[in-house]
Amino acid sequence: MTIKKSNRLVLGNWKMNGNILDNAILLNGLKNVDYSLHCDFGVLVPFPYLSQTLSILHGTKISWGAQNLSIHSSGAYTGEVSATMLKEFGCDLVLVGHSERRILYKETNSDIAKKAFAALSVGITPVVCFGETLDEFKAKQTFNIIENQVSSILELGCEIVSRMIFSYEPVWAIGSGSAASPEYVQDIHFFIRGMLDQIGASGIKILYGGSVKSSNAASFFVMPDIDGALVGNASLIIDDFLSITKL
Ligand code: PEP
Repeated sequence: MTIKKSNRLVLGNWKMNGNILDNAILLNGLKNVDYSLHCDFGVLVPFPYLSQTLSILHGTKISWGAQNLSIHSSGAYTGEVSATMLKEFGCDLVLVGHSERRILYKETNSDIAKKAFAALSVGITPVVCFGETLDEFKAKQTFNIIENQVSSILELGCEIVSRMIFSYEPVWAIGSGSAASPEYVQDIHFFIRGMLDQIGASGIKILYGGSVKSSNAASFFVMPDIDGALVGNASLIIDDFLSITKL
C-alpha cells in the first residue's frame, strides 16, 4: 500500500509476540474494518509471520513489515535477514534502531544508518527510532542524545532521508504504561523537525511511541508535529489498536 503524505500513520510493533492462531484473528480483524480516510496503518511482525501476514493482508490498504534487517545483502551472515528477503514477503516498512535493539543488541548509530540505507535500496521504508533512556532523561540530556542519534541519519542526505519515517520513543515510556506528555513529545518533535529542515527534509512523518493506547492517543494526534504513533502492547489488542486508527 502507499502511505499518504497527509494522512496520520499508526503502526503496531508486535515485538516478539504472536502465534499462528492469534495472528490470524488479529490480522483478519484488522482487515475487516472500514478504512478511515485520514489514517493509514500497518503492522510490524516477527520474521516467521511475514508469510502469514502477506497472505492475509495482501490486496488490502494495510501495510506491513519487519522489526529489523541486516546491513548486508546476502552471504555468510548466519541468522540474519536481508532487505531483499523482506521485499519478497511484500514488506513496505521495517523498523530500524528500536531502543530494544540499540540497548539489548548494542546496535550503533552507524549500524542503524546502514540498515536504513539497506532498506531503502530495495524500496522498503525504514521507520527509524530515536529516544533517550531514563538516566539520560533525568540528567536532562534528552536534546543532546536526540541530536546525536538524528545527526547520524541526516548524514545520509536529503534525498535519502526524505524517504524515511522517524519515530521518537523515549525509552522510559516504552512498555511502562505511562506515556510521555504530549507537550513534551511535541517539543522533541519540533526539535527533530528543525534538524530535518536544515537538510531540506522537514516533510517526513515523525511518529511518537511509548505506551500509546486508545485512551491517550488523541492527545498526541492534536499536536502539530506528531504525525502518528508507533504502538507496542496496545497493537496486540485488536479493539485498542483499531480505536487508535479511527481517532
Ligand atoms: C514500542 O515497542 O515501540 C512501543 C512503543 O511499545 P509500547 O507501546 O508497549 O510502549
